[in-house]
Amino acid sequence: MKTFFLFIYRLIQIKIKRHKKTNAQRIGSIQRMSLEKVAESIKQSVPVYQNLKTEEVAAKAAFPVQTPDAFERNFDTSNALGLTYAHARKILALDGEQPHTHGYFRQARLWVSDGTAGRKRVWIQSEEEQVAEAFSLFEVLLPMLPKGRVRIACFVPSISELLTPFNNRYVETLAFTWGGPNESLKLLLRASNPTILIASPAVLRALATEVIQGRLILSTSRIFSTTEVLTEEEREWLSRQFGVVIQNIYWANEGFLGHSCSFGTLHLNEDLFLVEHDYLEADHKRFFPVITSLSRKTQPLLRYKLDDILIERRMACACGSRHLAIEQVEGRWSDVFYLRSEVVDDWVPVFPDTLRKVITSGSTAIQQYQIRQISPNEIELHLNVPQGMFGQVSWAVGEALKRLFGQLGVRLPLLYFHILEKAEEQELRFRNVRQMTPMADFEARTEISIDPLFAPDKPPAEAVQNPAMRVLRILRPATHNEELTGTGG
Ligand SMILES: [Zn+2]
Repeated sequence: MKTFFLFIYRLIQIKIKRHKKTNAQRIGSIQRMSLEKVAESIKQSVPVYQNLKTEEVAAKAAFPVQTPDAFERNFDTSNALGLTYAHARKILALDGEQPHTHGYFRQARLWVSDGTAGRKRVWIQSEEEQVAEAFSLFEVLLPMLPKGRVRIACFVPSISELLTPFNNRYVETLAFTWGGPNESLKLLLRASNPTILIASPAVLRALATEVIQGRLILSTSRIFSTTEVLTEEEREWLSRQFGVVIQNIYWANEGFLGHSCSFGTLHLNEDLFLVEHDYLEADHKRFFPVITSLSRKTQPLLRYKLDDILIERRMACACGSRHLAIEQVEGRWSDVFYLRSEVVDDWVPVFPDTLRKVITSGSTAIQQYQIRQISPNEIELHLNVPQGMFGQVSWAVGEALKRLFGQLGVRLPLLYFHILEKAEEQELRFRNVRQMTPMADFEARTEISIDPLFAPDKPPAEAVQNPAMRVLRILRPATHNEELTGTGG
C-alpha cells in the first residue's frame, strides 16, 4: 500500500516537474548542478574524497577521469558503506558454485556485471536511489497518468527488478526471461497482453519474426529497445513489423543514461548526469561520455568514462529539449577494429557503424552478420545468406571492404567468410567483435581466444576461393585450431 501511494504521489510530481521543465525550456534555461557541488555532497561519506580540501574540489584536476577499470580497482574506498570488494564478493557468493545475481548490504542493493580479466564488477545502490531511478523510468514509460491498467512486459532483468516493487492497481511489470521464442513464452505473452514492451534489439527482432510468421499476436502500444545498439535500419524494420514506432532507452549499469524523444532523437539524461565529452577524433563528433551521476551517492560516479562511443548531433532537436542530442550510439570501444596503417607504423581505428554500412551495402541479401577481428591482420565474417548465394555475396562484401580499407589507408587484412547458422541468428543482428587489443604487445600474445559458439561448421559446397581477390578467401573445411593460412598476395 505504501508503494502504491508513493507511486501516485511521484507520478503527480513528475507531471508538475514536466510542466515546469517545459516552461524552463521555453525561456531557455536549464538547471544544472556543478561538478564541484556533487563532489562536496559526497566528500564526507566516501573515503577516497574525504581528504580533499575545498580549494582542490574547486579545481577539476582533483578528480581525474576514471575508466571503468580504475573505478573497479578503487571499489573499497569509493563507496559510502565502507564495503570492501572481498566482502561484496562474499555477499554475492561470487566464488561459490551458484553466484547470486544480486544481494543486499545494509539495505543497499548489490548486483554484478562482467568486468575485465574475469573480475566481476560490483554495483551498489541505496533504496532511495533505486526509487529515484525507477521513477525517472516511469516518467518516460508513462507520459500520461494511466487511465486503465498498464502492463509492462520487460525482458531486461535489471529494469524489471527496479520496476516490479511498484506493481499496483495502475501498473504491473512482468519480468520475462529470454530463452528463445518458445511456446510457453508466447502463451505467457498472449495471456498478459502487455501495453508496453521493453527488450533488447535481438529479442525484439526474434519476437517480430514470430509476429510476421503469424505465430504471435501483440497489441502493444509502446515498444522500447534497450541495452544494445539499435541501428536506424533496424529501428525502421522493427517499427514496420510491430506497427509501433520503436523508442530507445539508453540503459546501463551506470543508470538511466538517456531516451528518445517524440521526434525519435536520443537525448542524454542530463537531469540525472553531468556529461563531459572525451572526443575520439579531431572532428569533435565521436566521443566517450564522461559522466557524473547527480543521484548516486552510495557508489558515486564522478567523472566516470563510459565504454560507449556516441556521435553528437549537430542540429538542435525539434522537440525543444536542451538535453544533449545524440545522432547515434556507435557501439562499444571493444567493437572498434584496429588495422595497421599502410604508410606509418600506427593503428587505424575502423568504427562499427562504418563496417556495418559497408557490409550491408555489399548485398541486400544480408539480414544479419557477425564480424570479428581475430588478429591484427585477420578478420572473419559470418553472413546469414542462403547457401546458393554465399559465394557471390561474400565476394561482393569482400570487394566493398577492400575499397573501404583502401580509402582508410590500412594494410589489407585476410578475410574469412562463414555462413551464419540458424541457431545463432536469434541472438544477434549486426555484431562487431574485436578480440585483439590495439597494443604493441599484441604480437607477444600467443593465443587468440575463439568463442566456441562460433566454431566453424561445414563450409558450403559453393564456397570457392576467388582468384580475383588478393586478400580474400572463402573458408575451407578447417577448424580454428588449424592454422589459418592466407593467400596474402
Ligand atoms: Zn528531441
